[in-house]
Formats: sequence, C-alpha cells, structure tokens
Amino acid sequence: MSATRKAHALSFKVLAECSTTKARVSKLILPHHEVDTPVFMPVGTQGTLKAMLPDQLEEMDCQIILGNTYHLGHRPGPELLEKAGGLHKFMNWNRNLLTDSGGFQMVSLLKLAEITEEGVKFESPHDGSTMMLTPEKSIEIQNSIGADIIMQLDDVVHSTTTGPRVEEAMWRTIRWLDRCLKAHARPHDQSIFPIVQGGLDAELRKKCAQELTKRDVSGFAIGGLSGGEEKSQFWRMVSLSTDHLPGDKPRYLMGVGFAVDLVVCCALGCDMFDCVYPTRTARFGTALVPTGLLNLKLEKFSQDFRPIDENCGCSTCSQYTRSYLHTIAGHKPVAAQLITVHNVRYQLNLMRGIRKSIMENTFPKFVQDFMSALFPSKDYPEWSVEALASVNVTLR
Ligand SMILES: [Zn+2]
Repeated sequence: MSATRKAHALSFKVLAECSTTKARVSKLILPHHEVDTPVFMPVGTQGTLKAMLPDQLEEMDCQIILGNTYHLGHRPGPELLEKAGGLHKFMNWNRNLLTDSGGFQMVSLLKLAEITEEGVKFESPHDGSTMMLTPEKSIEIQNSIGADIIMQLDDVVHSTTTGPRVEEAMWRTIRWLDRCLKAHARPHDQSIFPIVQGGLDAELRKKCAQELTKRDVSGFAIGGLSGGEEKSQFWRMVSLSTDHLPGDKPRYLMGVGFAVDLVVCCALGCDMFDCVYPTRTARFGTALVPTGLLNLKLEKFSQDFRPIDENCGCSTCSQYTRSYLHTIAGHKPVAAQLITVHNVRYQLNLMRGIRKSIMENTFPKFVQDFMSALFPSKDYPEWSVEALASVNVTLR
C-alpha cells in the first residue's frame, strides 16, 4: 500500500486474474469495511434499502451499498446528516457506502434541468424555486453524507445521443472533475471516482479515459451506458473503457445489474456494479433465479410448495414457499420484503460464484454453465456471444 493510496482512503489489490478473459478478483479496502470484487452494490435510495434492514444485509455479508445524493440531499438534507454524524451512523449501517453525484437523478427525474458550465440548474419539485447543483455543491453534500466512495458530478447525456453534444459533455465532465477534486474536503476518508464518458464514440471514450487517468484518483467509473443503447454498442464501449483504465485501480460500471450483463462485464474487466433492478423487480413480485425470472404473481405458483430456489440459502427460501409468496405478492409489503431479501441474496451469490471461479481459474466454465442454465435452448443473445468471444469464451 503506497502512501498516496492511504491518503486516498482506499487500497486495492488484485488477488487473481482469469487466464482467458479480463476478469479479476480483488480486495478493495475502504474506511468502513473491505470489499471483495467483482461486487454488486444494492441501491438504498434514501438511506434505506427499500424493504430491507441493515442487519439483514450484514447477515448476508453485503459489504457495500449505494445511496442517492439527490434524494438524501433533499431529505434528511446535509445539515441534519452532519448533525447525525453522517449517513453510516444515521442509518445504522457500519459497512461501506457509495454515493452518486446527484446529477443523473436530476437529469432523469426533473424535466426542467438545464446544464451550463456552472452546473445543473433545475426547478425544485417542492417549491418551484430555481436551484443549482454545481460540482462544488455535489461534493459538499457528499462530504456531509460521508460515504466511503463518492462520485464526481458529470455532464450526463442520454446514452443514445450523438453529435457534438457528446464531445461537449465529455470535456465538461473532465473540467467538472477538477472542480470536484478541488472542492473535496475529506480526501483522508472519502475517495472521488471520476466517470468515463464519451457516449458511444470510441475515440471520445478513449480520450476521456486517458485524461481522467492523468488525475490523482484511486478508482474509476464507466458512465453513460445501459440507457437504452444497442447491446452490441454497450459491450464494446465497456470493453474499450476497461482497456484504457489502469489495471491497479477499481473499475465501476454504473447502472448495470442484470445477471447476464454482470457475468459478461466481469469478463470484460469490470469490478463494481449497481442497479435498482433486483430490488425494484422484487417489489413487483418477481424473483431472480438461475434459470431466469419467476413472476410469483402467476397462477401457476398458487400450489407450488417449493422455495423460490432450493439452492439459495436466504431466509426467505428457507422459510417460505412459492405458493405463499404468490398469495401475498403485490398485496402485502411483507411480500416485497421477502422477495427483496431473496433477490439481493441471488445477486450476492452470483458475484460470489464469479469470484470463486476466477480464483480457481475456472471462470470460462462458470460463464458457460451460467449461460446454459439461463438459456437451455442455447438461444443466447447475439451481443453476449460476441462480447464473450472477444475475451476468448465460446458458449456451448
Ligand atoms: Zn432465496
């Protein structure tokens, strides 16, 4: 561990690299806990994972969760969080937190967001007043939340946007990173991750990664993807981004959480992921299983007395049947809770399996087995076949 790393409140050590793909297993050490990567980070929007308690997360050895700065900045707000001694204490979560910059939420949630060089201007959804989220303000809020990893404010464009706006956003993201780094008041215990942008343009993305790499940062995020672009472009941009980021620092692919995407993007060299999907879909009665999805609201589960997944090991699977969950799914908050517990456990188990296979250097076989369980008729999505072939894995 070098002295600069210590000063950044983050250390990262690659423990094993797959001999076939770009996948690796690493140990990320943050102020509140260590993190085994590749890792999936469940999203706790407002200082709570919807329908799950910190104790339950700790029990399944979840090491890091995500909080949304936009929501937290609003309620309870930075002043109260500062008084409470930060979000870890406030929400009784003793392990790691990562917060986003708030920018993406604004651009996606607020119709009136306007981006200028100064920041993101928006109309408060509460009282209609005009407010401004600048890089400095985003860091100030994230400093009071106190997450172990915080994100730079980036200029977000929709992933399918093309033309000069993409290049403008890319360069502005770099300028905003410098402002964020300058404004950062807690470099001793919080690490800022810059965000690789550049849309679907290979040259811009490469240039962006090269520029960000020149800055004194201890990890990187890959942003602006997973927003409705063609999957064939998605994986190429992910792979190109990891190719141009240093191997000795963590790479966080933002907004990715479908099982296939996780497996493929681990093969492409990503270490960290987050997505609201597993918890959101649970609230609609859908459970994640190795063969795909179980929509527990379907009539066919009304007399199915098996657990969601016999091999899962979560508290829901050890105590409740599909039939019971079918009866309460969509009607009772407890159903959302029970299925959320299972889905988070599914994601954590998947990542555990990926890590184990990389450690044992059997990751390509893990990928093949995973894909054939999910697609027994071998109707693999074309993009996944191409992406895996690019790292020398052929599906059977
Ligand atoms: Zn389960």
